[in-house]
Amino acid sequence: MSVSVIIPAAGSGTRLGGMITKQFIELKGKPIIVYSIEKFEKSPEVSEIIIVTQRIYFNEIRNLCNRYHLAKVKEIIEGGKTRQDSVRNGLEKVNKKSKFILVHDAVRPFISTNLISDAISTAKKTKASVVAVAAKDTIKLSNEKNIIEKTFPREKLWIIQTPQVFEAKLLNRAYQNAFKKNILATDDASLVEAIGVNPQIVVGEYENIKITTREDLEMAELILNRNSYAE
Ligand code: C5P
Repeated sequence: MSVSVIIPAAGSGTRLGGMITKQFIELKGKPIIVYSIEKFEKSPEVSEIIIVTQRIYFNEIRNLCNRYHLAKVKEIIEGGKTRQDSVRNGLEKVNKKSKFILVHDAVRPFISTNLISDAISTAKKTKASVVAVAAKDTIKLSNEKNIIEKTFPREKLWIIQTPQVFEAKLLNRAYQNAFKKNILATDDASLVEAIGVNPQIVVGEYENIKITTREDLEMAELILNRNSYAE
């Protein structure tokens, strides 16, 4: 049962302040997005990879695919205004024969191939899986004036990451429902939850960070140096 991978990479990266969009920032001479794609290139379960990005980066991605021998990248397509729009564009290009779809943020280069495998095998059993780590901090809900309204029991709270893996039929149905009802979410699992399916958590790794801020970039350098990822 083959798995199609959608990599949303159409974010503008303005939070990092530089001119380069964050997925193209280099760590030890290699762009962040290449680290991410390589993990799926190496995953035997993955049959195709769809990159969603801005039109101005199509050529750059094509060049990177040639340079780093990323042969599973089948489509490079245009993103939308939000991450959700970008993934929806990606869904249209997925091979209709694929039974499972995995979504992974371009800016999470430290995902491990073992975790990818765990997430896929879990989704094959349960229809939907999300990689997550236990919350270390207490998490509270506030109102718009930052007055705390509610505290959640920490032992039930998870920091949700990607990859997230879904039965293809289910994810398509979730996106159609969200489009029809104008549901907006920051991850794919939320849209699946909105149609009454509860994804299974796969316990992940704290180093699977999303590189969003300058501090994240510094952390990424530390992780790379520790693991010598740049081979
Ligand atoms: O914005 P956020 O931190 O949720 O971004 C997560 C991933 O989604 C990033 O890889 C980013 O490039 C991508 N994204 C996208 N299209 C957008 C916004 C974000 O593909 N419009």
